[in-house]
Order: sequence, then C-alpha cells, then structure tokens
Amino acid sequence: MKKRIGILLCAAAVVLCVSALACQPQPAKSLDGQNEVAAGKGQAKYVFLFIGDGMAMPQVSSAEVFSTARSSKDINITRLGFTKFPVTGLATTYDAGTFITDSASAGTAIATGNKTLSGVINMDAGKTQKFKPITEYIHEAGMKVGIVSTVTLNHATPASFYAKATSRSDYYDIAVQLAESDFDYYGGGSLLQQTGKNKDKQDALEIAKANGFTYVNTKDGFNALKPGGGKVIAISPRLQDDGAMQYEIDRKPDELSLADFTRKGIELLDNSKGFFMMIEGGKVDWACHANDAGAAIHDVLAMDAAIRVALDFAAKHPKNTLIVVTGDHETGGLTIGFAGTQYDTFFDKVALQKKSYVAFDDEVLKPYKAGISAANAKLADLLPSIKESFGIDFDSLSAFQKEQIEFAFQRSMGNEQIRSFAEDKYLLYGGYEPLTVKLTQMMNQTAGIGWTSYAHTGVPVPTFASGVHQEIFGGYYDNTDMFRKLASAMNLKVL
Ligand SMILES: [Zn+2]
Repeated sequence: MKKRIGILLCAAAVVLCVSALACQPQPAKSLDGQNEVAAGKGQAKYVFLFIGDGMAMPQVSSAEVFSTARSSKDINITRLGFTKFPVTGLATTYDAGTFITDSASAGTAIATGNKTLSGVINMDAGKTQKFKPITEYIHEAGMKVGIVSTVTLNHATPASFYAKATSRSDYYDIAVQLAESDFDYYGGGSLLQQTGKNKDKQDALEIAKANGFTYVNTKDGFNALKPGGGKVIAISPRLQDDGAMQYEIDRKPDELSLADFTRKGIELLDNSKGFFMMIEGGKVDWACHANDAGAAIHDVLAMDAAIRVALDFAAKHPKNTLIVVTGDHETGGLTIGFAGTQYDTFFDKVALQKKSYVAFDDEVLKPYKAGISAANAKLADLLPSIKESFGIDFDSLSAFQKEQIEFAFQRSMGNEQIRSFAEDKYLLYGGYEPLTVKLTQMMNQTAGIGWTSYAHTGVPVPTFASGVHQEIFGGYYDNTDMFRKLASAMNLKVL
C-alpha cells in the first residue's frame, strides 16, 4: 500500500513537472551557464556540425604536419581550414559505462545531451527510455535537416541523429527508421543490411521510396537533384568496405567526395527557415582502427575540404551561420612520435602511400592469395606492389623489420606452422590482414608515427567553432554539453 501511495505521489509529481515544463519551456543551459548564448545576437539559422569519427588532436595535427611539414627540417605548419576557426574547445568523451566510449554512446551524447552505454543509440543505459535527438527539435522548428556520412548511413554516428535503438547492430531496424523519418537529405555511404540480416525483409530503400524519398546512386542522378523535389537519399556510386564510401586516398578525381555531398546538401536544404546538417568523416575512425595513418590523414583532409564548402556558404550568410567541428572520440592511440625515431618525423614517407589498407587488401593481397598456394607463395612476388602502394623499399629495411614483414606475410598466407598465441596475434595484427597492418604500422613508425591500440582511446576531443554564437563552444566541457550548446545557438527550446 505504502508503495502504491508512493507511486501515485511520484506520478502526480511527474504530471505537475511535465505540465509546468509544457507551460514554461526551459532554455538550454548547464549548471555553470556556459551553454547559454549572449542576448541580442540572432539565432544560428544555418548550422553545420562536422564530426570526425575517431578524430582527436593527434589525427588533426597529423593532417597538418602531413600537409605542410613533411620532414623534421620543415617545421612550418599551415593550419587546416577548421583549425583556423576563432574558437576552440575540448570535450570529455566518457560514457555511462566506460572512460572509452564507442560511437553509439558518443553520438547519443552529442545528439541528445545524455550519457548512455556503448552500443546504445539514443536510449538510456537501462534501454527503456528513449531520448529525443536535436534533429527532431530542429525539424519541429521548421528547419530542414540533412545527415551525411562517408560510412553507411545506418552506422552509429549518423544513426544518432535520426534513430533510437537498444543496439547499434540492429542495422535493419535503424535503416527502417531512416526510411520512415521525415528528414530532408541523407547522403554518403549506403545502408548496411538493407534487406535485413538474413536478406528476408522488405528493402529499406523501398520503404523510403514509399515514404516519399527520392533515391539516387549514380553521379548523373546526384547532379540532377534540385531543390524543391522533396526528401532525398543520395548514395555514393562507388562503395568500398561494408558499403561505405571509398577512402579519400582511393578516390578517383571524378568520383563524388564528402565536399560534393556537403555542397549538394546546401543546395537542397537552403530555405528561409534555415537548416542543420551533420556531416561525418566516418572513415578516419576505420583507418585508425587499422593503424593506417595515411588513409586517416587523407580523410581528415577530405573533411577539411567539405568544411571549406560550408565556409563559402557562411561567407554569404555571415550573421546566421554556425560551423562546429568536433570528434566523437580518439581511435588507435595515434601519436606524433615513435621510440625508433625519437625526436624526428618523416611525414614525407606517408606521402608515398598511394592506397588505403583496404585497397591493398582488395587489389593486391586477395587476388594474390586466390591465385597461389601457401607453399608456393613468396614475399618477393609482392614487393613491387608493396613499394607502389606504401612506398616501402624492402631492401632498405633493417633485418628486424624484414623479419617482421616476412612473418606477417606467412601469417597472411595461412602458414599454420608459425601460428602464435591468440593474444600475440591480436596485439600484432588486431584482426586485420597481418601483412597489410604490419606494412602500414612499419611505414608509420619510420615516419615517426606511433599507435597504441586497434580500438578507441579515452582522451578528450577538440571542438572548433566559427560563426554566430561561436563563443559558447570554447572551454573544457563534456560531450553532452554539445547538445545544449547547439540547441542554445539555434534558440531551440529543449528539455
Ligand atoms: Zn571506431
């Protein structure tokens, strides 16, 4: 009985709270008030949120060093477009269960202002309560919403801006939520498990079309998209690993880039009430998981190129455009500096890389493995391709380095006799093709780049802001504050 009275009192309190809140919408603010915009300035009407997945300062700094200071002698660093932004901040990234977040809980934090467990999208740690992402508030305010990613559109980060799911792996369920959403523009990679895990469900793209979406996956179709044509799903004509867009390092000049998807988003979303576009450089993370600094750096630069497109738009709408660039976590434990090179760096070696680890696997290693038995395979057969792909001159390596590459080659060819303990295997290769990961790691090390992990790490991420209300993104805060800062800049009434 006591319990029942307690429940009734709680229920009454909730009703009172809800009705009070309904009458008086609460402005977005944190305890210290730092999320509130200054009075008198206009609303951020055109808002770009760029998220580099797996991008913390090491990824940003590596891209800057790569671009401008390729040897130890040349220490002039020219800033990227976004590192010249007037306001910088730092955000903690821990989630409800660990100091090292994943993209689902980090996406939930940024999109809804709530902590949750790794793997959960826009729901609480108990997996019962749903959180409303900022995009829903934006849509309700009459602004248009665009979501762009280089990885699959139902991957954790983009999903955090339109879906709610107990598990980020429920790809089909998330794809259906995208298909049934009323947001205006989805662009980039494809949909993972589009017809379900067992390929026995209704095609999510068919559901999307029935819900009014125009779908294109050709360059001509993409170019033909014009404003006023309704909701759009635009998928890159060329897909690479798991249906993601290709790595920037593997992109041919005439293929669509992240900048192209950003430019098209502006064209389609621009309207008098404003828009919000989330643009994710998702493969910075994937490259860093695989310890491929070259691929990661080129994808950071591709994001910078996309940000420059947003800056061009901002130049035309300086009073009400806001551009925010951040990361969701760091990946790989990347750093500038390696024990073997001490105080020196040789980023010119990274510039010799011509393929991502995925392209090397697909175009060199897999065909080679398919055409030869393990007994007949010789590392010498691949040395010309290795030099062409990664700039590694095998003859110039030390005996120790040669031995490591030969060992990894034997492992990639499935030579059982040299199989080591599972733990060693993971620490050595992280579940990737042994030869490929050893080649990128070794080339990175000779360039003075170190890695500590094949997973994420727990260091803070930087934020760069430019435009109206940029000042509230300065300082050191938590990733959940991003939601309140964006809401405040857009003058959204969020609970
Ligand atoms: Zn990751």
